[in-house]
Amino acid sequence: MFRTHTCGELNKKNDGAKVRLCGWVDIFKDRGKLGFINLRDKYGITQIFVPGNVLDNIKNLRKESVVQVIGKVKVRPQANAKLKTGEIEVEAEEINILSLAEPLPMEIGDDKATEDTRLKYRYLDLRRPKLQTNLELRHKAILLMRNFLHEKGFLEITTPMLTKSSPEGARDYLVPSRIHKEEFYALPQSPQQYKQLLMVAGCDKYFQIAPCFRDEAARSHRCPGEFYQLDMEMSFVTQEQILEIVEELMLKIIKDVFPDKKLTFKKFPRLSYDEVMSKYKSDCPDLRKNKDDPNELAFCWVIDFPLFTEQTEEDFFHGAGDKWGPSHHMFTMPKEEDIILLDTDPGKVKAYQHDLVLNGFEVGGGSIRIHNAKIQEKIFDLIGFNAEQKKAFEHMLTAFKYGVPPHGGIAPGIDRLLMVIMGAKSIRESIAFPKNKDAKDLTMGAPSKVDKKQLDDLNIQIKK
Ligand code: ASP
Repeated sequence: MFRTHTCGELNKKNDGAKVRLCGWVDIFKDRGKLGFINLRDKYGITQIFVPGNVLDNIKNLRKESVVQVIGKVKVRPQANAKLKTGEIEVEAEEINILSLAEPLPMEIGDDKATEDTRLKYRYLDLRRPKLQTNLELRHKAILLMRNFLHEKGFLEITTPMLTKSSPEGARDYLVPSRIHKEEFYALPQSPQQYKQLLMVAGCDKYFQIAPCFRDEAARSHRCPGEFYQLDMEMSFVTQEQILEIVEELMLKIIKDVFPDKKLTFKKFPRLSYDEVMSKYKSDCPDLRKNKDDPNELAFCWVIDFPLFTEQTEEDFFHGAGDKWGPSHHMFTMPKEEDIILLDTDPGKVKAYQHDLVLNGFEVGGGSIRIHNAKIQEKIFDLIGFNAEQKKAFEHMLTAFKYGVPPHGGIAPGIDRLLMVIMGAKSIRESIAFPKNKDAKDLTMGAPSKVDKKQLDDLNIQIKK
């Protein structure tokens, strides 16, 4: 057996017990005739007293080495209140070095290390307790989402990662097919089309902790490459029902996982796009009462968005024409009373879009969907899809011919939601292995060049 206890559990009740502990050397003090180790694992730190005869065998020990300590628990004359295990220490009888660490490229928890160094040695940076806590909070939040939705009758269904390139707003990540020369898969920008098809299939209530891939520039609140959504879709649902279920879920996440946080509103205000734009000049208003309070959370809903926005360089909907792009995406249902304006004044058409906003960040968006092939085609035309682009969505129009329930959904962004709740400065704080600002995975060294043989298999030649 490697260990009888973790480094976070021994106390004076264990006095005299013979124990085995394993962990990382947080601190090593060699005082010549005796020594001390602060032994650390995920659960805590235990002080190890190292008598001279044991010390002689570990003179070469360095910080962050992994060791096994065999010894006896002793109550300390004076407890160290800073440690959970501060009532005791373990007097080592034997120390086995399981993995000797070389001098470290960065100190653990060193804020002076550059972000790229921290990302290259992410496994070292993740040893800092703050990031361990973030991973744990993320796990708890996701577990709660799963249990909550399961109890509400939702089914978690995984959808393909290798799918089809279609114009959905961002640039696609493409994956060349070996078997079908000159053809490509695309990684999904979101499971949007699949989840709608699941509604056509009669699944009624779907969710997925879904990775989404978008080739777009990094921002402090947006990771380039990939991110995770809590993707949801429901049949025979009204917009208000979607807002209510997400609101109930958010309140539960805050209450159970982040109990120190304070909500500005117990009931999230619903504000129209026109209202927030005129009052706050932003569609992501920050409604906190006291913006200096790191624990205050102000959720709100923004609804009644225009169906289309004029294309701008910085917010260009890839795939759509030069004039109009969809505010949300092209599957969003226009308000019934505005359908008549589609032909005459498309800029005035309002949509069943809903954005969840938290402290000035958009943390989720969704809509009631179009479930009528004719309206869907009209929207494709209005955003300037050519025949080929429309063809990319043919399967949706075909599916809509065979009985489609009215449906709608939303997809809160998990990384961003957690970043804002935790008050982290960067979205990377809530992700185990984030890409850097240039979309590189510095830990793995991706992207990377590949063998000529691999390219030949794919029938690909790199342009010089
Ligand atoms: N697929 C949408 C998105 O990624 C979310 C939704 O409409 O449910 O923004």
